[in-house]
Amino acid sequence: MPHAEHGGLGFCVAGTGTDVGKTVFTAALLRALWHVGAHAGAVKPVQTGVRTAEVLTSPLSDMRVYLSAVADMPEAMASHPAAALHCFALPASPHLAAAREHRQLTCAGLCAAVRQHWATAQADVLLLEGAGGLRVPLNAREDMLDVMAALAWPVLLVGGNTLGGLNHMLLSLDALRDAGLCVAAVVLIPTAEPAAGCPGVDVPAMLADNVAVLRQRLAARGVEAPLVELPRLPCLDISAWEHLAEKLLPLAQNLVAWPADNAEAGERLIQRDYTSVWHPYASAIAPPLLTPVTRTHGNRIVTAEGRELVDGMSSWWAAVHGYNHPRLMAALHGQAGRMPHVMFGGLTHAPAVALAERLLASMPVGLERIFFADSGSVAVEVALKMALQCQMGRGEKGRNRFLTPRGGYHGDTFGAMSVCDPVNGMHSLFTGILAQQLFMERPSCRFDRPFPPESLEDARRMLTEHGHEIAAVILEPVVQGAGGMWFYHPEYLRELAVMCHKAGALLIFDEIATGFGRTGRFFAAEWAGVTPDILCCGKALTGGVLTLAATACTDAVARQICAHGQVFMHGPTFMANPLACAVAGASLDVLLEEGWKERVAALEQGLHAGLAACADMPGVADVRVLGGIGVVETCAPVNTTALHRFFVERGVWLRPFNRLVYLMPPYITPAEDVEQLCAAVRDALRAGVHMQ
Ligand code: PMP
Repeated sequence: MPHAEHGGLGFCVAGTGTDVGKTVFTAALLRALWHVGAHAGAVKPVQTGVRTAEVLTSPLSDMRVYLSAVADMPEAMASHPAAALHCFALPASPHLAAAREHRQLTCAGLCAAVRQHWATAQADVLLLEGAGGLRVPLNAREDMLDVMAALAWPVLLVGGNTLGGLNHMLLSLDALRDAGLCVAAVVLIPTAEPAAGCPGVDVPAMLADNVAVLRQRLAARGVEAPLVELPRLPCLDISAWEHLAEKLLPLAQNLVAWPADNAEAGERLIQRDYTSVWHPYASAIAPPLLTPVTRTHGNRIVTAEGRELVDGMSSWWAAVHGYNHPRLMAALHGQAGRMPHVMFGGLTHAPAVALAERLLASMPVGLERIFFADSGSVAVEVALKMALQCQMGRGEKGRNRFLTPRGGYHGDTFGAMSVCDPVNGMHSLFTGILAQQLFMERPSCRFDRPFPPESLEDARRMLTEHGHEIAAVILEPVVQGAGGMWFYHPEYLRELAVMCHKAGALLIFDEIATGFGRTGRFFAAEWAGVTPDILCCGKALTGGVLTLAATACTDAVARQICAHGQVFMHGPTFMANPLACAVAGASLDVLLEEGWKERVAALEQGLHAGLAACADMPGVADVRVLGGIGVVETCAPVNTTALHRFFVERGVWLRPFNRLVYLMPPYITPAEDVEQLCAAVRDALRAGVHMQ
């Protein structure tokens, strides 16, 4: 959600701890905002230590403080500028205070309450005051910072100018940065006893030094937010409020002029994009429809105008845990602090070695060596090159072609393109340039029907006729992805593996799309119980956080490549990037610990139930579901732009192509969101949006 809502601007006020003066600051800023002509309000989503009935009278009520700061301003008072959304009697952390009253706070619930409040409040600037520090818990999993991150409003960070205050301030700034939040101002207020417990400290010098050091540190981190010093006043009467508000006038002016993050800003971004950026499979002069997005969380993508889209694409198979998963983010930040990147020639590091070991342990038995690449296409190039070098090592110099089924997709680099479907792929565009490979029929055997042995006839024929010139057969096991979202029978792979072996051709599985559980098996090869000679994975390898891919091969392949003192001739600059490897390690942990199998099974059930009705709709050729993949194949190519508009309007993110409206939601998607995705597809097809 952008900070501009209901035609206004939202800012969060966070403290570096309790009793640092953030309530006084919020109240004084409220007054200052009214002084500069803003209709401002302050809201406290969680107020502890105060019963609802006492919210206007209790000395512990922050709402009472807000109102006292503007008590002499009739216009402000008439606008009901203060509210507390949840009050709890126990003066303790929100999670404890709520539990005492048998209630549970959630980030989503608090955000909804804030939105609801703002929809009725007459505020064009809304200040939201947290409770205690940023990491104050709301429940077992979430804390106040999660609410601020979900709202994504700029933050005013208030800290005590005291011995140790800098420490809390700098750590809070780290937390805000890691949550991707913008700091709108940093406010320092001396505490009652700045040097408590440390007699002999020169207090004024220490306070001045804190300010100077903080300024330096802000500059070093590139934080441009102003540093505001407020005095601590012993008595808060109207003249004290006026004094504080005066000091905050420049900040208030800053805030009302804050550039809004809204639909208009999104529109400007699109225009800039159209003049300088090129999008995938798109024209630069007739650019595609674009939806500007600002943030992601869970299974949601947030658009610039504040709409939350339920993600049905996992960002092209990758974001299997949804977005911003705390474990993956922690791995990313931790590794960034240690070593973001280092060349892999002549150096090695634990994130890469550990990941290679774990990948091999999770892959079909027999794969024993990992080569890291930086994208799926490059992993495919590596696989093709491995096969060629392996055949050279075997002394088979004439084997320099690849056999692959029609309907495949393996990437956009030249080697990968040469083995993509010759009709749907880019062959006609690059005729005479792409290497001439061998193509066999698409496996016609459906996954969900008995296996017809004749579906292997063409493979057999090609291997018989061309076996001597084939270095390897490359294919996507069980699911052909971008080439048609086709699910075929695992028996095909079992028999093909035997035929390849007999023909002296290697077998390469491209599991870049199918890997990491998407089909209901960790690797799709498991459906067939086949170990290929070479296997590529990517996409979901890092849970969609960073680009990384890997090509695995058997010990025999590795030995043949390296026979006669040879080496494998490949080495991308960003090979085994430590950040990506660390995140991939965390992603494997999350897959195992959060029960990927049960989650994919639940997705499969939801997709089956939600898409079944599409089978009888006009213009629909087939409906099929496997694991976390749901496909509605239409009879004619769909109007992708009309569907894009329709789906975004319906609050879902799906990106159909050609004759395919397909879903592959993150594994974490709740059942009701799977149904929302399916309902959007059903309604689009029923209304004929795809045929417009
Ligand atoms: N192989 C398959 C099966 C794929 O689905 C893709 C990506 N769609 C690739 C290779 C290429 O991967 P990348 O886009 O990371 O280069």
